[in-house]
Amino acid sequence: MTAESTDHRRLIIAGTGIAGLSAAIYAGRANNDPLVLEGDEPGGQLTLTTDVANYPGFPEGISGPDLVNEMKEQATQFGADIDHGVVESVTKLDDGRIRVACANGDVYTTDAFIAASGASARTLGVPGEDELMGYGLSTCATCDGAFFKGEDMLVVGGGDAAMEEATFLTKFADTVYIAHRREEFRAEAHWVDRVQKKADEGDIEILRNTELLEIHGSQEAGIDRVTLAQNESGYPKDNLDDDETETVEMDVGAVFYAIGHTPNTEYFEDTGVELDETGYVTVQGGDGGGQTRTAVDGIFGAGDVVDHHYQQAATAGGMGVKAALDADDYLEDVPERDAEPPQATADDD
Ligand code: NAP
Repeated sequence: MTAESTDHRRLIIAGTGIAGLSAAIYAGRANNDPLVLEGDEPGGQLTLTTDVANYPGFPEGISGPDLVNEMKEQATQFGADIDHGVVESVTKLDDGRIRVACANGDVYTTDAFIAASGASARTLGVPGEDELMGYGLSTCATCDGAFFKGEDMLVVGGGDAAMEEATFLTKFADTVYIAHRREEFRAEAHWVDRVQKKADEGDIEILRNTELLEIHGSQEAGIDRVTLAQNESGYPKDNLDDDETETVEMDVGAVFYAIGHTPNTEYFEDTGVELDETGYVTVQGGDGGGQTRTAVDGIFGAGDVVDHHYQQAATAGGMGVKAALDADDYLEDVPERDAEPPQATADDD
């Protein structure tokens, strides 16, 4: 498609992670002719993981990229088109259509839109990170913890996710270290208490006022050690020149980031779709509590743009399915439209 052309679609799905592709499979089978826009992280977060051992139906496990590719094939087989497009803005037009503008200049209109653009795990940008992501460094303990059985492991973060992941990892690790950049945990008391109990039992060691500076290792051999900075006043990285800041090397075989996720929902600013204070899409409705409708008719949300709690491939897939079914219900009352140029709106550039 050229920069100037527009194309009207019955349904556009943003995202080719598990939520988007599950929605595409169902929407294709429902003859809703979905266009699936693949953004900057094709395949979503699962592609950061080498082996997916907990996706139902694969007792031997499956690699993240392989699972995504199989789902893409299944979606296209049922009529989905997959094209590159980083969604930049979504606008509900006065006639009910939804205008979708992409960063490359492509503009579409659609009768319904499913946001399945996921959330990106935050990273630190430390040396070794890019090279070792997927080779000992992970943003998902549930996905990857079991691969490092018997190793010492480091979890970075001080929120609920860090506590939950550290607790989970004690099943596999020799010792789990938690590095948190300040004294107080952000996590709820419930999680801090559970972690403290594990610490008392010797399974977890808590490193407060500690930050990760570098990860050492190779893709062939995995992670062998990390460099940490510590300062009792907190935020040691901001105080590296301080005499009180110490740099220590620690042998660990795996590192898990649990420093939060950022939902990819910037394109919903000014659409009327409600976002919570951290950017997650607020959803509602659906018979039986399906809960994929947003506050704007015809716009649905699925997977990690909505769910900041479960964040599993299987749960994202289930929500993608619900969104496709909810979109199908919605489209039953929306007449088919021909392609026509999108209306200009007051919000346009
Ligand atoms: P979060 O609550 O935002 O916590 C992120 C943690 O990472 C914070 O402790 C933060 O430190 C730290 N952090 C952020 N950027 C950092 C950086 N650049 N360097 C070092 N540390 C950094 O994220 P979350 O733990 O993923 O939780 C997200 C949401 O999901 C929350 O609402 C949480 O309650 C929910 N959740 C619930 C459960 C559960 O109850 N089962 C499990 C997981 C998540 P500071 O504290 O210093 O800012």
